[in-house]
Amino acid sequence: NKQWLLKSRPIDTLSVENFQWHEQAIPELKDGEVLVRHLYLSLDPTNRIWTNSWDSYLPPVKIGEVMRGIGIGVVEASRHSKFKPGDFVQGLLNWQTHMLTHGDQLARLNVAEGVPLTTYHGLLGMIGMTAYFGLMDIGQPKPGETLVVSAAAGAVGSLVGQIGKLEGCRVVGIAGSDDKCRWLVDELGFDAAINYKTGDLEQQLEAQCPEGIDIYFDNVGGDILNIMLAHLNIGARIPLCGMISTYNDKELRPGPSNIGALLMKRALIKGFIVSDYFDRAKEAGEYLLNAYKNDQLKFRLEMHDGLENAPHVFGKLFDGSNTGKLVLKVDPD
Ligand code: NDP
Repeated sequence: NKQWLLKSRPIDTLSVENFQWHEQAIPELKDGEVLVRHLYLSLDPTNRIWTNSWDSYLPPVKIGEVMRGIGIGVVEASRHSKFKPGDFVQGLLNWQTHMLTHGDQLARLNVAEGVPLTTYHGLLGMIGMTAYFGLMDIGQPKPGETLVVSAAAGAVGSLVGQIGKLEGCRVVGIAGSDDKCRWLVDELGFDAAINYKTGDLEQQLEAQCPEGIDIYFDNVGGDILNIMLAHLNIGARIPLCGMISTYNDKELRPGPSNIGALLMKRALIKGFIVSDYFDRAKEAGEYLLNAYKNDQLKFRLEMHDGLENAPHVFGKLFDGSNTGKLVLKVDPD
C-alpha cells in the first residue's frame, strides 16, 4: 500500500513539505473486512481545512495519519456481507492506493448506464449535490431573479450557474481569468462573467447587475463576499458554501464591514455542508441525471495521473489553474 501521511501542519498553503510518502504491505483480510483498490481521488479545497489543528465539521487529520480524502475505488476482495469483488465504492478512501476497512465510510456506487465512473466525482457526486442543495434549498431561485456565483468556473460554481439558468435566473459568474469568463458565457450560457483579478469588481458588478443581487452563492468569502453584501436586494439569500480565499489565512481576518446590509435588506446568509443533505441524495441525483442526459448541464473534469503527484496537483485549487473538478487517477497502470 502506498500512502501520503500528514507530516506537519501547513502555515499557509499546503505543500509537499507537509507530507511523507509511506509504503507498507497490505495486511491479510479478516472477517467483516473489505479490500478496496483506489481508482480516483478527488482533490477538494476542504482537504486544506482538514489539515488545520482545530475541529471544523470533521476532526482534524492527526499528524502521522494517512491524509483524508474522498475517492472512488473497486472492491478487490471481501469478507464483508455488503460488498463483493468488482463492486464500485465511494467514500473517505484517503490518499493511498488501497484500503482495508470494515466499510463504515463506504457506499456502493450504482453507476447509471452510459455514465462514466468519474462523473460520480463531479456532476453526479458530492459536487453536484453541493450545487443543487445550496442553490435550491437556501438560494430558492425564482425566474427573473439575479444570481451571482463566485469561483464560477470551478466544479461547484459552474453547476450552480447552469442550474440557476434552468430555474430562470439571470446568472453572473465571478472567475479569475478571461478564458474562464469566456467559457462561462460562450459554453455554459451564463448571462455575464466578471474577471475579479482585472478591473474594478464593484464597477463591473454594478454594470452586470443593474437590478441588484437576489442570490449570491458564495464559494470564496473574504473581500468578494464583502462587495456582494453591498449590492443585495431586499430579501436576498446567500448560500455560504465555501470560503476558499480564507483557507490559507495565518490568522482570523476582521469580519465583513458591509455585514449591516443583512439587516437593512432583511437578507439571509446560511452555511451548509453537503453531508447535511445526504438523506435527500435521490432528489438531487434525479434532477442532475435528468439535466445531464438532456444536455442541459456541462461539466469539466481535470484529470491528473499518479497518487505521488497529489500534493503538487492540489495546489492548483488555490492558484486557480484548475479548469474543472480536480481528480487524480490513483494508479495510471
Ligand atoms: P473549484 O473547482 O471551484 O476550484 C477552486 C477555485 O477557487 C479555483 O479554481 C479558483 O478559481 C478559486 N479561488 C482560489 N483561491 C481564490 C481566492 N483567493 N479568491 C477567489 N477565488 C479563489 O473547487 P470546488 O468547486 O471543489 O470548491 C469551491 C468552493 O466550494 C470551495 O470554497 C469549497 O470549500 C466549497 N465546497 C463546499 C462544500 C460544502 O459542502 N459546503 C462541498 C464542496 C465544495 P479562480 O480562477 O476563479 O480564482
